[in-house]
Amino acid sequence: MKTHDHNIPPVGIDLGTTYSVVAHLDAQGHPETLVNAEGERLTPSVVFFDEFEVIVGREALKAFARLPERAAECSKRDVGYKVYHKVLQGKYYPPEVIEAYILNKLRQDAAQQIGEFSQVVITVPAYFDEVRRKATQDAGYMAGLEVMDIINEPVAAALAFAYEEGFLDNNVEVSQSQKILVYDLGGGTFDVTVMEIRGHEYVTLAIDGDVRLGGWDWDQRLVDLAAEKIIRVHGFDPREDVRAWGKLWSLCEEAKRTLSVRSKAVISFEYQGRTAEIEIQREQFEEATQDLLDRTRFTTIQALKAAGVTWDEIDRVLLVGGSTRMPMVRRLLREMAKKEAETSVSADEAVALGAAIHAGWLLGKARGEPPRFRIRNVNSHSLGVVGVDPLTRRPRVGTIIPRNTRLPIIAKRRFKTHRPNQRSILVQIVEGESPSPEDCCPIGQVSVKDLPLNLPKGWPVEVIFHYRSNGRLRVKIRVPQMERDINAEFHRERALTKELLDGWRRFISGKEPTDYE
Ligand code: AMP
Repeated sequence: MKTHDHNIPPVGIDLGTTYSVVAHLDAQGHPETLVNAEGERLTPSVVFFDEFEVIVGREALKAFARLPERAAECSKRDVGYKVYHKVLQGKYYPPEVIEAYILNKLRQDAAQQIGEFSQVVITVPAYFDEVRRKATQDAGYMAGLEVMDIINEPVAAALAFAYEEGFLDNNVEVSQSQKILVYDLGGGTFDVTVMEIRGHEYVTLAIDGDVRLGGWDWDQRLVDLAAEKIIRVHGFDPREDVRAWGKLWSLCEEAKRTLSVRSKAVISFEYQGRTAEIEIQREQFEEATQDLLDRTRFTTIQALKAAGVTWDEIDRVLLVGGSTRMPMVRRLLREMAKKEAETSVSADEAVALGAAIHAGWLLGKARGEPPRFRIRNVNSHSLGVVGVDPLTRRPRVGTIIPRNTRLPIIAKRRFKTHRPNQRSILVQIVEGESPSPEDCCPIGQVSVKDLPLNLPKGWPVEVIFHYRSNGRLRVKIRVPQMERDINAEFHRERALTKELLDGWRRFISGKEPTDYE
């Protein structure tokens, strides 16, 4: 692999629900995980709002077990919503602001080792919709970073795997195509992606997933199992006291890890003078979480169907995300795929390593180097506009770009003015699979206010949707036969304004605002 320019270090960040990882390419171009200020490769994605300071990582996780009401955990699960579900120190924070605190720590800690940098690649679950992708980019901006690109976690994992296997080496001819299934079960999200490596091309065939399913849900089931025993012994439900719950949760998360290597785990719970020793058998745990596993089975089958691929055609299964260490997950994949999953790259670090490889590629491209690989994506959700059903006169979503369409793509939709001299139109854009707008995720509204005077009724107005390779959307308006561009304002439903982003950027990272869309 080529030696890269040392002025700008290629950095990739896996911003995980429960843990985050930073990687870079070393002087020889090898991807390598960077340790944080505490000397760990994985930084807990927890933010603790102390009275006078904001703490991120291991210390925040410890504080969370004591004072969960002051800590933000799993903020990635809330990304895309206006505010994080918990009030913290009397305030509602946008989830991307919490993510920005995490990224800021990752940036500062990494800079201690490789020097100041700002350009990064951040990964997102393949199943993240446009709104969540934009919010992730905004989090990077508020953390003082310049997000060169966002790539899908499974694609990053496949790159890391390909690097490890030597496929990315320019001297290695990869002639045979390989179909890969990436099963990614992290702390809070589940993604399944079917990919094909065709020589140096990384083609995503289909994506499916669940943005609210992950190791956290397995933890909660253990908490429930333990809580039932505590109620039996002490007549007290630890889930009803936020601090008792925080403590029990962290014990259960640890017990879950034990159950990945042993057939039983013991939880010693002590709270306000009450103690309970709870023994949990692996079998019992697996039984209590079988339905969660079944949800991943169902989604995996759906993704294969969408890709038009059968299990026989899958050459390799990649397991990504800490939760794939659970024996029940490995068993499920062995059963379905009839083969063992790959373990050549660490499930925890593969995504960040792949992101660093992609960052190296982007920086190399900017310097005019020939590409070593090419990524081709699909969109994970259908894009549509809200119109009126002519039969029922009720709002209805008209799909413009169906899910699993190859990106980038440009699609046009023609609207007609309803009356003579109409000066404005409003187009409501959503993502989702349902015909009913309430069940879809609102992206925003495009409003055009300066249509030319005296257009007759029925005059066409074209809305152009451009989905870029990274799943981000741009919208333009064109009125045929008009010379000048029409000003279209794209008002996002749930995004922070540029002023707020700039304010948070200064506050969190101490960096000055820059040009940012
Ligand atoms: P990730 O976001 O990919 O780092 O995944 C983190 C999730 O993996 C958390 O829910 C952890 O509890 C879980 N996890 C990590 N290690 C293990 C393990 N050995 N057994 C079971 N779950 C694990």
